[in-house]
Formats: sequence, structure tokens, C-alpha cells
Amino acid sequence: MPKQTKWIIVSGGVLSGLGKGIVTASIGKLLSSNLKIVPVKCDGYLNVDPGTMNPIEHGEVFVLDDGGEVDMDFGHYERFLNIDCKFDWNITSGKVYQSIIEKERKGLFLGKTVQMVPHISNEIKNKWKELAKKEQADVMIIELGGTVGDIEMDLFFEASRQLKLEVDKENLLFCHLTYVPILHCVGEQKTKPTQQSVDLMQARGIQPDIIIGRSPNKLTLKSKEKIALFCNIKKNEVISDPDIQTVYELPLIFKEEGLLDLIEKKLELPKSGDLIEWAKLVNNIKNPEKEITIAMCGKYTELKDSYISISEALIHCGATLKTKINTKWIETTEIEQGKIPIEEALKGIQGVIVPGGFGSRGTEGKIKIIEHVRTNNIPFLGLCLGLQLAVIEFARNVCNLSADSTEVNKKAKDPIIDFLPEQKKIHNKGGTMRLGAYEAILKKDSITAKLYDSLRVYERHRHRYEVNPEYHKILTEKGLTLSGTSPDNTLIEFIELQNHKYFVATQAHPELKSRLEQPAPLFLGFVKAIIK
Ligand code: GLN
Repeated sequence: MPKQTKWIIVSGGVLSGLGKGIVTASIGKLLSSNLKIVPVKCDGYLNVDPGTMNPIEHGEVFVLDDGGEVDMDFGHYERFLNIDCKFDWNITSGKVYQSIIEKERKGLFLGKTVQMVPHISNEIKNKWKELAKKEQADVMIIELGGTVGDIEMDLFFEASRQLKLEVDKENLLFCHLTYVPILHCVGEQKTKPTQQSVDLMQARGIQPDIIIGRSPNKLTLKSKEKIALFCNIKKNEVISDPDIQTVYELPLIFKEEGLLDLIEKKLELPKSGDLIEWAKLVNNIKNPEKEITIAMCGKYTELKDSYISISEALIHCGATLKTKINTKWIETTEIEQGKIPIEEALKGIQGVIVPGGFGSRGTEGKIKIIEHVRTNNIPFLGLCLGLQLAVIEFARNVCNLSADSTEVNKKAKDPIIDFLPEQKKIHNKGGTMRLGAYEAILKKDSITAKLYDSLRVYERHRHRYEVNPEYHKILTEKGLTLSGTSPDNTLIEFIELQNHKYFVATQAHPELKSRLEQPAPLFLGFVKAIIK
């Protein structure tokens, strides 16, 4: 064990979207076998947290056990490292400024002028150090969002420059991810953007210790030599980050490239264990033995990132079951408007997922699809809104109720999905949203309990509406199994149908806890039911 916390600062240059989150997660994975790794994400925007940001613009809002709504990079951290992250580990400019302004109002600066440097930069450093201490981290991996040169990130770069001065050389390293394009007409890797990006780092007083070059192929020896020479580091400190079939392969590529040895040497860390099990799963993803196709019936189909945890959960199942899972995205507004008949939309589909969502657009289309899969014995997995709509469909078509959700229709005759006012008092984070992991008690012998192999589970939530308790009785009488409830038996957490290939839904988002080494049980059950 290292005597004190080690720091790895991961920054990016040239372009955004190079996969800094995956790089951070991969470095964490490489070091995680015998060290406590705490990944921290710093975002320059002024939103205190991304909870209110539109998923089409920003990708999925990732929810943690503690109810924190965070950047979707936390999904990568958790999926790679198999850890539960915390809200504190996402530091936004919004959070930093908020706490500085609160301190200023309380008079804590004793008449001083409160300034960007040192007050904001100190606040950032203090947040990092407090976390390191609180979490007893062996290695803090700080991912700086955006790219070097972004105005809103400058104080985070400044804070990391200062931190380097405070710790000994073997305790902190800068890892800079850049883009190395291949110019088509010459077919050659170009290192100039990397050099310019490193110039920007150096102008901020930071010399990268390791440069990771994102490129379609591995970096050539020539590229590595050039980057080394112009960016003031050694050739072996330039690491390739090529295009790969699955992101989960990146830790293995980095290891091959010598990144793990390099970090262990520079930070004087003990030798890490191997990645044999991980490599097996990656191999299964790359060489599947079976192939299936499922439909995702959503609203945010324009941006696949808004459902990334679901896609990843399916990849995890595929890795365990050696199966390639193709996904067809179905925009349910088109079903609703009758533009495409359901049979045609579901052609070649072996299972259907109705994921979470908000608002009314597309819901009637989803309800039609759920009716179709229920009556045609097609495997179905409903997530959050997916459970609510499955209950509405069952209530309408089996219980003969004029059922609806008050989220969609305030005047519903049978408000079977309703906003429960008592929720307001208990859950105030994120407005009136019920957020984070909650306990559910599962019915003995239910499909759900068998899949979890437990009668008590904790899954994460992000919703406002619930199945109305007044209707629990009729739903049960008509044959819907309420397979999991809150411990006080008031909230429905899981439902299922017997005598169906697979018809399971949950009020939670089990995809948020799925990891490559531990796929979410309800997803695994869904894929197994299809393969069978
Ligand atoms: N809109 C629904 C609710 O708020 C479902 C939310 C979700 O699917 N995440 O309860």
C-alpha cells in the first residue's frame, strides 16, 4: 500500500469526445486489483449537477446509490471498476462557485477580496484533498472535463498545477489524451494537433508525464518519436489509444502498450494483479457464438447516449452469455401516429425493452407495443416508465379500466399511475424526484427473486410517479404478479407475468448497476429467455 494518496490527472486536448471517461476508467481498472481507486470528474459548466440537463444534449443522466445525478462518465467508472461512486466525486464549477459564494456570505473570508486565484483554485484543491482523505484513496484519478484551453476549465487546470507543487514528484502525474488524425490524402498520422495541445498545457505551467494518442490505428513508432521529441517526454511515455471493437478492451491495450508499468514505476506503486477474467469477457464480446436482435422503444432515439447504460447492460449480458445483441431503435411516436404498423416495426425482433422516459410523447405507441408483446408471448423488459406503461396496458386491456398516468392525463378516470403527495415530504433532492437506491422486498418464488437470488434488493431510481396503491388489489386479482414492493408494502417496485416467456418490469433502473463482471440480473434473465 502506498503511504499516501497518489494522484493521476487526466486531461484532454484537440477535440472533445475522444473517450476521456473510458481512458480514466481503464487506467482505474488497471490499478484497481489491490488499490483503492477514487475517480473524480470535474465539469466546467455552471449547473450544480446535470440532473436538469436535457439527455438529448448531454447524454444520459447517471444516478448513483446516494441519489446524486452525475455526468455519464460515472457510468464508465462504475462499469469498469465495479464500484459505487458518490455524488461528491462529481465536481462542477456550479458546485465550486456555490460553496465559495456561501462562504463569502457567511463572512468566512474576513474582509479579503475573493478571487479566482487563490480562492476558487484552493476550493477545488480542497475538495480533491477532502475526498482523498474521506475515502482513504490510494489513487485519486481526477478527470478534467472538456479540453485544455476551454475557458470554463482553466481553474481546474490551475488547481492541478498547484497541486503538483505541493506533492512530491512520485505522487502525481499528468496524463494527457489527444487526437492524432490520419490525413486521408497522405495516409499518415499527424502529430501537430497533439503538439499544439501540449503547448496549451505548458502555457498553463503543466508538463504532461504521459501522452495518450487517440487515433484510428495504433501510433506508429515515427509518431511516438515525434510526439516525444516535440512534447518533451520519452518515447515510451507516448501510449496508443486506437479504435477498438469494444471499449472494455482498452485496459488490455493500455497494458500491452506499457501504460500500467509506466504508472506503477512513476508513482512507485505495488504491482497490480492480472486481468485474466476481464480478458475472457472481452474475448466473448469480440467472438460471440450467438446473435439476437431486440427492440428499444424510446423517445430519445436521436441520441443513443441517452440510453447508454441500457446498451452497456446488454453488452454485459452478451459477454457473459457469448451472445451478440443487436438493438433496433423504435421511435414510438411513429407507432402512435400509425405511420408504421407494429408487426412491421417488430420484424426480426426477439425481445422488447421499454426504457424510462418523461412526458407524454410516444407513450400510447409504447402501450400498443406492450400489448403486442404481452399477447404474443414476446420477451419484455420494462424499466421505470416501462413498468408504468405495462401496468396501464394491463389495467386497460385485462382489468377493463380507463387507466392512465396523471403525468400524461391529469383527468384520468382511473389514475393508476399517480404522483403520490406523501413522496414530496420524504424526497426533496432534485425537486420531487425519488432518486437513488431504495430497498425492495421480493416475493418468494417470483421470477424476479430467482433472478436476483435474493429477497432484498437495492436498485436505483429516478422518477416521480408510482403505481397507485388503490389499484394493487385489482391488478393482483386479474393476474399481474406484484413481485417486489417497498419494505412498507406501499410502492410497487417489480411486476411480472407468469405463463409468459418473460414479462418483467421494474420501477427502478437496474441498468445503472450493471457491470461487465456483474450484469444486471433482470437484463440477464431477459436475454436468457430470448436465447432459450
Ligand atoms: N416519468 C416517469 C416518472 O417520473 C418515469 C420516469 C423514468 O422513467 N425515469 O415517474
